[in-house]
Amino acid sequence: MKITSTARPLALCIAMACTTVPITGRKELNLVGDGTMNQLGQQTYAQELAKAKPSSDQAANAMVQRVAKRIADAAEANFHPGYQWQATLLDDPKTVNAWCLPGGKIAVYSGILPITQDESGLAVVLAHETAHALAHHGAERLSRTQLMQLGETGILAAVGAAKPQAVQAVGAALGLGAQVGVELPFSRQQESEADHIGLVLMAKAGYDPSRAVDFWQRMVAYSKGKEPPAFLSDHPSSSDRVAAIQRELPEAKANFVAHQ
Ligand SMILES: [Zn+2]
Repeated sequence: MKITSTARPLALCIAMACTTVPITGRKELNLVGDGTMNQLGQQTYAQELAKAKPSSDQAANAMVQRVAKRIADAAEANFHPGYQWQATLLDDPKTVNAWCLPGGKIAVYSGILPITQDESGLAVVLAHETAHALAHHGAERLSRTQLMQLGETGILAAVGAAKPQAVQAVGAALGLGAQVGVELPFSRQQESEADHIGLVLMAKAGYDPSRAVDFWQRMVAYSKGKEPPAFLSDHPSSSDRVAAIQRELPEAKANFVAHQ
């Protein structure tokens, strides 16, 4: 059989187990099963929440729950991850961040709310973060770490026992880089993918995807002259990002489903 250069990634995928990213169709290396990733998400969520303070702002909490539920419902209806969804608003006005771990475990730091401004702005962020989980980006990153030497059971045991190195490496792979102090950011390719999938996902949840442009422009204005906030530091350059989002808007708008 003639081996061409285009055949090689596929051959590698057959030999090493790959998954296909939804929407973009990219083949990604994935050596960690969904069950293990979801358990790692759950363990990491419990550990992160134990260090944090839940917000007592009732209106903000209700908004986070509403937006998270619409994004989760759209994710289940269209991508069928079978997650046990959970969302928590954390009282942390200095942290401009949010994440969604494998298994559908979402955290929103109150510091991002002045920038999201309203439900559509929050939907931009939660759809983007949920897209990382749906696209198995954490598994893809974890598959390239030395932690794989422990095997799936070994990784779960090490994180369950709160072994610092394992907790840090898994947290970094799941995109908690800023919190655990290890810079192993999502790659630019993963970030662009999360933007693209997130746009489609928010449209399927009944939010206007063009609001993503406004949100990212507010993030640019916020971070001007400051250190980039955690949420931005691992992301593609803002002008590239907005241009790519504008190119992807027609596809996202075609996926719009009005919320009942
Ligand atoms: Zn991201």
